[in-house]
Amino acid sequence: MMSKKWNFMLMLVTVFALAGCASNGSPTGGASSTPASSPAASSAPSTAKPAGGASVLDEIKSRGKLVVGVKFDTKLFGLKNPTGGEVEGFDIDIAKALAKEILGDEKKIELKEVTSKTRIPMLDNKEIDMIVATMTITEERKKQVEFSDVYFKAGQSLLVKKGSPIKSVADVKKGTKVLAVKGATSVANIKAKSPDATILEFDNYQDAFSALKAGQGDTLTTDNAILYGMMVQDKNFEVVGEPFTDEPYGIAMKKGETTLQAAVNDGLKKLESSGQYAKIYEKWIGKAPTK
Ligand code: GLU
Repeated sequence: MMSKKWNFMLMLVTVFALAGCASNGSPTGGASSTPASSPAASSAPSTAKPAGGASVLDEIKSRGKLVVGVKFDTKLFGLKNPTGGEVEGFDIDIAKALAKEILGDEKKIELKEVTSKTRIPMLDNKEIDMIVATMTITEERKKQVEFSDVYFKAGQSLLVKKGSPIKSVADVKKGTKVLAVKGATSVANIKAKSPDATILEFDNYQDAFSALKAGQGDTLTTDNAILYGMMVQDKNFEVVGEPFTDEPYGIAMKKGETTLQAAVNDGLKKLESSGQYAKIYEKWIGKAPTK
């Protein structure tokens, strides 16, 4: 596995040069030599908002608040602190920074809980303006939502109890009980890799992790960066093997909201050029253990 320092540098160099789905790199593998194309050009709005309806960006501005769907169950990305009640993580800081870019104040934000399964329906129902919640850009999802440029690159891995005979995805076979979360890309990915394994699906990551700790499964599978957060929560567990998929994260907006999409991409570019993205990355991801 590539060192975290390298991973971090790789991220900074490549993440904003990649628009859409990355096929050649995860934080831990496959250095990208993709030339720095213009993400703005490649994701420029192609359709205008239909006449008559206000765009979501107009609504955000007139209400003076950005309503963002985030995870409450994912340490390092979006986790509700049980003591103070605040929600904290990389995605939260990115969302706040975007509120500052769009509305001039990072406090002009409301964070609503989404899970992997509820996030697109909540966007469709207009309960939230956007999703900033460890969400992979996929071709399938692109049919349902507009995505920003890639803002984080992960890859699917496995979490096991230390000492487990499972050392990589090759060890996930018939009889292996794999824990995963409903609505995540991880479910179809592991089915494709290990079709004979038994998959048990949970509503959220903390429930899946509790089940692993209770011995209800042999391994928990999702993005490596999410699993690193679980390692922080309990040192008896470790991530094994190399990531076996690319999971480029994007911010999702309602289909057709290309004005908002352009504003978000513009905001992301500013966070990158001001060095704020690097600070947020270092705060949450740079310090996380990978072993
Ligand atoms: N990034 C993957 C996905 O979007 C897994 C993490 C998640 O469940 O949010 O499905």
